Amino acid sequence: METKYEFEKKFRDQVLKCSRCGFCQAVCPVFGSTLRPSYNARGKMLLLKEVMDGNTELNDELIETLFQCTTCASCFENCPSGVNVPEIIKQARKDMVNIGSCHPVFKGMNEVLKKHTNIYAEDEPEDFERERNKKAEYVYFIGCVGSFREDEPTLETLGLLDRLKIDYTLIDEVCCSGVLEDVGYEINKDLVRKNIDRILATGAGTVITGCPYCSRTFNNKPQYDELKEKGIKVIHISQFLKDFDFAVKTDKKVTYHDPCDLGRHCGIYEEPREIIRKIAPDFVEMRHNHADSLCCGAGGGVRGAYAKNSIAMARRRLEEAEEINAEVVLTECNSCMHNLSNAKLRKQKFKIYNISQFVNELMEEAE
Ligand code: SF4
Ligand code: SF4
Repeated sequence: METKYEFEKKFRDQVLKCSRCGFCQAVCPVFGSTLRPSYNARGKMLLLKEVMDGNTELNDELIETLFQCTTCASCFENCPSGVNVPEIIKQARKDMVNIGSCHPVFKGMNEVLKKHTNIYAEDEPEDFERERNKKAEYVYFIGCVGSFREDEPTLETLGLLDRLKIDYTLIDEVCCSGVLEDVGYEINKDLVRKNIDRILATGAGTVITGCPYCSRTFNNKPQYDELKEKGIKVIHISQFLKDFDFAVKTDKKVTYHDPCDLGRHCGIYEEPREIIRKIAPDFVEMRHNHADSLCCGAGGGVRGAYAKNSIAMARRRLEEAEEINAEVVLTECNSCMHNLSNAKLRKQKFKIYNISQFVNELMEEAE
């Protein structure tokens, strides 16, 4: 049978493997906040099967269903048939863009990243009062959200690296551009080139990223393979910090939110917890944790395109922190930080921090 769309060429067998069992419904954050079955993984797979059968076409009417997905991978994690829904959705979005049916919020996003260095189209990054592009053992790569929206946690993380006497440098970084693939475009090769050249120029052997999504992009996207080939390691800040002893403790009740990009997408669950156990004897898990963690609602372009639902998802997550009477919610992702902080519950008693930010504040207080 003639195939019209790339998603069908690449994922036909996967779409057909969906047995409609519905296990994905209970774990889909978009379904949890909208209660619309067409938005969960099963609904999306049924729709794409209709497209493959020629009963409907990809067009503007499908935008709502296909773009209401945070690519959190909860469905994939729980699918007995192993259907990789987030990858299928990302390819279907590329097919949509190719026929001119992109979500209006993301129209021209690839053009923005041709003219600017970041997803917010801002040209003056916070300088973080640190020298950039110098020779160092490590590069600290902040990411767009940490550079332009969550600069306070970033400053605290840099403060911690200074306190630990780490030989690091910032670079004139540009967006890793992985996010383009989430909303229907291809990774921008010019941006990739700039990042690779600037990292190599420092002579660093390791890149530490503040953002789990950047870490994922550098490690998994073939466009960044040159880093591996030149022997450069890329790790997330939680992997870097786990071996340090901070000699400070909090008596507050602390919980941890697993970012989807760090947990389900990279399998990094224990490193952040190792750090937290060192500093917080009263560490308690939320009801959903590790691979079952609830998504904060920010990913896959949902924060930009469906802000109300995105905040509703973040509130569901915060309610779990409230349930266990947490006083501090830690995470290690500026995107999660941003969404969870914006969601704020009524009469919320806990504060939200990145782990590195929280550790630095504890160390500062102890001085
Ligand atoms: S869990 Fe998997 S097989 Fe079951 S309905 Fe969802 S996508 Fe289909
Ligand atoms: S990736 Fe997450 S948001 Fe998207 S369909 Fe699966 S469970 Fe729902």
